Amino acid sequence: MQEPQPASTSRRLLGRLRDVMAGSGTAEERLNKIVALIADGLAAQVCSCYVMRAGEVLELFATEGLKQSAVHRTRLRVGEGLVGLIAAQARPIALADAWSHAAFVYRPETGEELYHSFMGVPIIRGGRVIGVLVVQDREHRHYVDEDVETLETVAMVLAGLLVAHELIRREELLPTEGNALLPLRLEGVRLSPGVGIGTAVLHSPRIIVPKIINEDPQAELLRLESAIAALHDDLDVMLASPESVGEEYRDVLETYRMFAQDHGWKNRIHEAIRSGLTAEAAVQKVQDDTRLRMNQVTDSYIRERLYDLQDLANRILQHLTGARATAARGDLPEDTIVVARSMGPAELLDYDRRKLRGLVMEEGSANMHVAIIARALDIPVLARVKEAVAKIEPYDPIIVDGEYGQVFIRPGEDIQQAFHASLEARRARAAHHDALRDLPAETLDGVRITMLLNAGLLLDMQNLQRVNADGVGLYRTEVPFMARPALPDVEAQTILYGKILALAEGRPVAFRTLDVGGDKLLPYWNPVEEPNPAMGWRSIRVTLDRPLIMRHQLRALIRAAAGQDLDVMFPMVTAVAEFDAARALLDREIAREHSRGGVVPRRIRVGAMLEVPALMWQLRPLLQRVDFVSIGSNDLAQFLFANDRTNTQVADRYDVLSPPFLYVLHSILKQCEAAGVPCSVCGEMVRNPLEAMALIGLGFRRISMAAPSFGAVKGMVRSMSVVPVQHYLETLLHLPHQSVRERLRMFALDHNIAL
Ligand code: PEP
Ligand code: MG
Repeated sequence: MQEPQPASTSRRLLGRLRDVMAGSGTAEERLNKIVALIADGLAAQVCSCYVMRAGEVLELFATEGLKQSAVHRTRLRVGEGLVGLIAAQARPIALADAWSHAAFVYRPETGEELYHSFMGVPIIRGGRVIGVLVVQDREHRHYVDEDVETLETVAMVLAGLLVAHELIRREELLPTEGNALLPLRLEGVRLSPGVGIGTAVLHSPRIIVPKIINEDPQAELLRLESAIAALHDDLDVMLASPESVGEEYRDVLETYRMFAQDHGWKNRIHEAIRSGLTAEAAVQKVQDDTRLRMNQVTDSYIRERLYDLQDLANRILQHLTGARATAARGDLPEDTIVVARSMGPAELLDYDRRKLRGLVMEEGSANMHVAIIARALDIPVLARVKEAVAKIEPYDPIIVDGEYGQVFIRPGEDIQQAFHASLEARRARAAHHDALRDLPAETLDGVRITMLLNAGLLLDMQNLQRVNADGVGLYRTEVPFMARPALPDVEAQTILYGKILALAEGRPVAFRTLDVGGDKLLPYWNPVEEPNPAMGWRSIRVTLDRPLIMRHQLRALIRAAAGQDLDVMFPMVTAVAEFDAARALLDREIAREHSRGGVVPRRIRVGAMLEVPALMWQLRPLLQRVDFVSIGSNDLAQFLFANDRTNTQVADRYDVLSPPFLYVLHSILKQCEAAGVPCSVCGEMVRNPLEAMALIGLGFRRISMAAPSFGAVKGMVRSMSVVPVQHYLETLLHLPHQSVRERLRMFALDHNIAL
């Protein structure tokens, strides 16, 4: 009789498995039928399924051929015997004579003394071994690669059954990476402080494949081809984009080439389809294989490339399944910790913030807008956590320690307890800060500091009362724009700004006009591709070029503040002429409101944000025109140091607590004071007590920060005296050092200033 072709063996087997899966019976009954089918389909005397239990033990769950009394009795540790070895290495083993293998252990209760040849494959789910599938024969049978392939394909179907019927529980899953058998600790850079305890959610979710067994391999091959074609289109677009110039470009190009040339990879997917899997199940199978290979590769270059292959496979899967690009709109655990390569602010806002407990990213730097939003939401953020996406599984228990820049994955009981205790301590500290709420923000030598809030969400406005701020020093109006599905019209904006003013209960709110572009993209607004977006078409440049957007926003602000005070400021003003042009639009809208008989605000104060160095040399004419100045230290530092605020590579290179930056701030303040124009700082530096101390020492009396920092900064204010800090700072301004942070910190310690 002619040997059947492996692909058709596997296809036939899968067809019969499908019937069992679709039929009735408990999971264990089906499992019993399945092992019998596999033994029959592969013409083997034995087929056994071992399932991973708690404590890294593999338990015999079902068998055809071994003694039934061994089921649930025979247990092997990971690494013990051939079955344990397969699990430990996450690799198949095929032997004509199992007994002669050094790792073989004989378990008499199974009656396996009758069998010689042995073939076993890991049952893998989401890159982890959840069981082992074995066939055994009396003969010294030499299994070939195709046999192994067939068993692997069947194991994939079995993985689905085990997970779907909860024969395997999540906490019993085994990470396959060598030492990652233990809980994992990764390090990163803290972008937002705090501690988050929760459940991992992958921002770009691994895709669940609903249908594993195919009905028509030809149709599946065609589906695969068109998904690959769509992927090539994606890559073409990426390659054509001017943003990809440089390192990225080469990486993508290399991957592209490698992908196009990697026939092995493509052939493996084809083979899996021919053996009976759907196109998506085949891609996933090969992806799982790649992932396991990745864990065994130490060469970082090859790992990177394999990582890219994973990425490409994901894209193909998205094309095949039409899956969502991000997890934000899916079912989220109550305590979600999002794990992403990188993320924009709008993407974070897509998540239900009541459920967000933290964010872990592989990339990122402190002044990225996503970090600013995360701080406003008061969730800890860790960036530059290497390989977070590959190492963290969906639903892993996870702890983000935003204090010490570490993330614990699948932490043990002791670590969990320690962090619960630390959360308690933080709560106690927050309670201490809350107790300062009604005390004045006044230094020991009697200087009153105006403490303002940075806000962007309605949620933030509740903080105004909670922390008892003097007002809102920066209302980022683009945040509600980013959180919406479409550009809000005048009416929607009027309602929104009206609510903000109502929540402010008479405290001033400095509305900043739309500041989009750079890394702040609106989901409904196709970004213009720019080689250098931070210095490109963004902020006031956009709204001056699209005056209708600006006018609608100003109109809404005027209407919302009818009969009240209105403070408006324009971001990223680079030249006085830009301020004039924006101001003219405002005047035009006021006149318009007058002419239609509307009520205009009682008083309008107009300010400029100082974020671009050029404006410092036009301060004199500017100060004649503005009612206030607000220094955006994030952008000002970015442009002053020529240091991209979103670029991880250069994130820690320069320090705002350095002579040049402090000197610049000081000189702006002096000119504002001379002109009698109030000047505040509203960048992220204010949130750190040490930076706030330096600003007050320089002479600033108005500072604006995100709510979570309020208590700590107020505590610092109440523990400092201005005069000694001021004198000390004067000695630092002309030093040649790159940073004076350490000196300031020592000074604060010596003077009992609460940092
Ligand atoms: C700044 O640049 O400092 C600032 C406050 O504006 P944003 O961070 O929103 O760009
Ligand atoms: Mg800015």
